[in-house]
Amino acid sequence: MAHTSDGTVWGGDRRALVDLVGERGAKRLEQLDIHSPRDLLRHYPRKYFHRGRYTRLRDLVSGEHATVMAQVKGVEDFKSRNKRLHVVKISITDGDTVVPLTFFARRPYMVEYIKKQLRPGTSAMFSGQVTYYRGDLELIHPDYEPLPQAMDEEEAARRAARPVPVYPATAKLPTWRISDMVRLALEPLQPSEVNDILPGEVRQRRELPGTVAALHMIHQPGNDLDWQAARRRFAYEEAFLLQTALARRRAEIAARDATPRPGTTDGLLAALDAQLPFTLTDGQRQVSAEIAADLAGASPMQRLLQGEVGSGKTVVALRAMCQVIDSGGQAALLAPTEVLAAQHARSIRHLLGPLAEAGTLGGDARGTKVTLLTGSVTGPARRQALADAASGASGIVIGTHALLEEKVQFADLALTVIDEQHRFGVEQRDALRAKGRTMPHQLYLTATPIPRSVAMTVFGDVEVSTLREIPAGRSGVTTYLAPAGQQKWMQRIWALIAEQVAAGHRAYVVAPRITSTSLEDDGAAPLDLDGPAGPDAPGQGGPVPGDGGPATVEDTYARLGKEPALRGISLGLLHGRLSAEEKDAAMAAFASGQTPVLVTTTVIEVGVDVPEATVMVVLDADRFGLSQLHQLRGRIGRGSAPGTCVLVTGAHPDSPSVRRLKVMTETTDGFVLAEQDLAQRREGDVLGAAQSGRGTSLRLLSVVRDRELIEQARQDARALITADPNLVHHVEVLTAITELVDPDHEEFLDRA
Ligand code: ADP
Ligand code: MG
Repeated sequence: MAHTSDGTVWGGDRRALVDLVGERGAKRLEQLDIHSPRDLLRHYPRKYFHRGRYTRLRDLVSGEHATVMAQVKGVEDFKSRNKRLHVVKISITDGDTVVPLTFFARRPYMVEYIKKQLRPGTSAMFSGQVTYYRGDLELIHPDYEPLPQAMDEEEAARRAARPVPVYPATAKLPTWRISDMVRLALEPLQPSEVNDILPGEVRQRRELPGTVAALHMIHQPGNDLDWQAARRRFAYEEAFLLQTALARRRAEIAARDATPRPGTTDGLLAALDAQLPFTLTDGQRQVSAEIAADLAGASPMQRLLQGEVGSGKTVVALRAMCQVIDSGGQAALLAPTEVLAAQHARSIRHLLGPLAEAGTLGGDARGTKVTLLTGSVTGPARRQALADAASGASGIVIGTHALLEEKVQFADLALTVIDEQHRFGVEQRDALRAKGRTMPHQLYLTATPIPRSVAMTVFGDVEVSTLREIPAGRSGVTTYLAPAGQQKWMQRIWALIAEQVAAGHRAYVVAPRITSTSLEDDGAAPLDLDGPAGPDAPGQGGPVPGDGGPATVEDTYARLGKEPALRGISLGLLHGRLSAEEKDAAMAAFASGQTPVLVTTTVIEVGVDVPEATVMVVLDADRFGLSQLHQLRGRIGRGSAPGTCVLVTGAHPDSPSVRRLKVMTETTDGFVLAEQDLAQRREGDVLGAAQSGRGTSLRLLSVVRDRELIEQARQDARALITADPNLVHHVEVLTAITELVDPDHEEFLDRA
């Protein structure tokens, strides 16, 4: 029996694992990141097989390592041509497809052994490399495990109901070996040895089994309900720990003192409102009220404002800035790039008008000064900017990372606004906050629609406000799907571009790759929450006839240069391999109309505004995620002229890819598209590498499926932290979340 530091299997280490499964077993488990009996018990089955329910053999993919459940159909054996080897050919079936297995044996008794184990009619699991042999799928020398024959009828019935766990496995360690090892770890485990992480009242309220019971149910279920209940329990545990960590951090910040900034009724904010050239939408009004209430409070605001490009976040943020200025404070706006910082400064100055020119002749007495501070502001301008921030003369300081430098000081920093916050780390956000005399209120802005379950998981410690509507007066975008490789369609697309350019507009032509030899997509990922395109098969036949691979920027650029319909129109070229200067120049030439057609990858910066752009053609659109296409499409139809978006795809009209793309033609709601994307994406792509991580990180919790569970866990976690802020009465929880928030995981929690 395993003897470990605290005398239990549960608390054991590698020694205990070696005691259980031997040195060789422990080595093999290491490849699965299993280092202790506890890791082994937390290695959950990925799915379950059922007797009589066979794996669909037709779905096997060549090159994969697969584990299947099937029935032996036929057996034959013969000698190889050179007579040195015996070959055993077994065919297995799922009742529909038949797949051959080939075994090689040196000695006749091995042939007999295999034939005895795999008699026709036997059900067994097989695990091995799927290969193509003469056009047919085949498993070469797979591992196999016949399902044990029942002794009597009763036993047979019980066995038949029992799901067979299938573990994430390796070539050297098939799933049934892992099952055996898990059994060894499970047998000696006593409920009294394991401290349940979930508080008893939570377990009761949510009807969750205890740890040890759940471990038995997940590894050795008597029926499907068992493992389902156990999975729910462990997923809940993950959600609960994560939410407790987030709730604790939220409580820590809330416990800090902030200066209340209630504003006044006759200051800068009132003056701004009086001169706005439009009326606020209901959404803007509501979100503004939430923020105003937060700012008036004595604990620091922690709020995320999400709304698509053009939803009017800037004016909402500006109103918050004005409120704190009216209360004697200053606001800082941090943007990820110089281009975006400059754009913010421009639109804020534009909205404020004379109110942005305090201290100058035409300036309004209630006004303030708007200062831009980026890396390219140098010399006397920089000294002036620093002086204005430090004296308080400047109520609004806008900048990039340059704002974080130690030299930048504020008289009284009351509010920090962070644009596209996922591009900044915590240290950076904290560095800005540290410049306040008391802890500043913090507002995050994001243009990426985030489904609620993801927001709760990744941003669980902040309040979320959402702007759903786009202000009226926008002409909107119509989206079409076009089949690749059909000359007639492509001709119409190029003619449309020519027509729009003649009317003074601009067009983007987007391709998924730069060159045909580049292995990767552009790689530049301004759309951070987007993973790569879905798992669908790529479209065949790009828009360039005779071209098998995906459309490339270079080919498209060359081809459009020769396109008769576009004669006389200058083309621009933009992609991630250009230098920063070249990119800026390409963007500027496009914006000015010098090159009214821009052939590009997805590198076009989020938020970059060319109001004259009315056409967006996306080649091989099936290679992009819906959110990504939505972001791309958001760059047209921003002026007064309506936009047209054409998604070109070579995928078959009935394929899942095309069904997916059709959604683009039916809605312009980024949240609907983000949810759709989420539903189609594999979990790991959503939360990134952190999700596939080790130890106690998220293994079972799915932000796709477990939305309700996450919501419940959040309620329970917040209640727990309210009752026991420092978790002194819940030491197991404290230990578990400390493990969760170790440096590796901090990054995950802080992607918020
Ligand atoms: P975001 O920052 O969310 O991308 P902006 O704040 O830049 O969006 O707003 C986009 C455009 O819409 C700006 O020109 C802005 O002045 C304008 N706008 C904002 N709110 C309204 C409104 N309520 N009605 C009409 N136009 C608005
Ligand atoms: Mg904006």
